[in-house]
Amino acid sequence: MFQQPHIQHLKSFNRNNINVDVLRLDTIHPIVSGNKWYKLQYYIQDAITKNYTTIVTFGGAYSNHIIATAFACKEFNLKSIGIIRGEKAPTLSHTLQQAKQYEMELHFVSREAYKYKNEIASKMSNDKHYIISEGGYGKLGATGAASILKTVDTTSYTHIICACGTGTMLAGIINAAQAHQAIIGINALKGYENIVEDINNICNTKKEFTVMNNYHFGGYGKHPKDLISWMNTLWQTEQLPTDIVYTAKLFFATKDLIETDYFGADSKILIIHSGGLQGNLSLPKGTLLF
Ligand SMILES: *Cc1c(COP(=O)(O)O)cnc(C)c1O
Repeated sequence: MFQQPHIQHLKSFNRNNINVDVLRLDTIHPIVSGNKWYKLQYYIQDAITKNYTTIVTFGGAYSNHIIATAFACKEFNLKSIGIIRGEKAPTLSHTLQQAKQYEMELHFVSREAYKYKNEIASKMSNDKHYIISEGGYGKLGATGAASILKTVDTTSYTHIICACGTGTMLAGIINAAQAHQAIIGINALKGYENIVEDINNICNTKKEFTVMNNYHFGGYGKHPKDLISWMNTLWQTEQLPTDIVYTAKLFFATKDLIETDYFGADSKILIIHSGGLQGNLSLPKGTLLF
């Protein structure tokens, strides 16, 4: 059902004898790509062990988490309900159409009401409905994300770098990393300053890490022209597809940090490609070369 991820070497990132590799989680599945599947594993297991029959979760119209949850629930014979931010559009996004194909029941709530999603969740929570928070944020999500570093041998890298939304994946990487490895997160959101605290709250170790808050390109849903042209350049030089929300910013940041000598000579960097390519379907045809 899922492919093993593989490592790709990025030759165009070479400088000062720094070696840069990518862990390609985007290739594990054509639709449910990336980190979301890993983050969900323990929630699904927990729900099944506790005899819940339905999973309820939250997200926007392009959410990778919504699609992955819909898929995982179908795989494990659980019912799934998605609380979707914003009024129902006349034509559903590709993401929501796919979630429906995986038999997720969609409930649309206004952006205003969505701000109180924790209250919606507590109202829906009962002995049948298992609630997973938006983006899979939480300790079980981090525990699942920790298994990302076990998919290939990652022990020789000096730095591990990944994108952050809720920070759950980064928390998992922190849990699983070796003592000698430096951990860096690239925040895709603008003005989410509490992320470090939110990460610390779900980590089960006290290890140092760094979050960079200045590579958001205008914010979560923003994808200015220079980001799009960077994605096309990366595709042309490395045959590496990226997504507009997270990984394009991640690779841009890594290249920028290399060029400004953030990393010492001879560093061995592992970039986690966390997938999310389905979100690019929201762009007009022809915007991207891949
Ligand atoms: C959700 C997502 C992230 C962010 O993961 P968090 O655990 O929420 O920080 C990064 N990349 C992609 C492609 C994602 O879909």
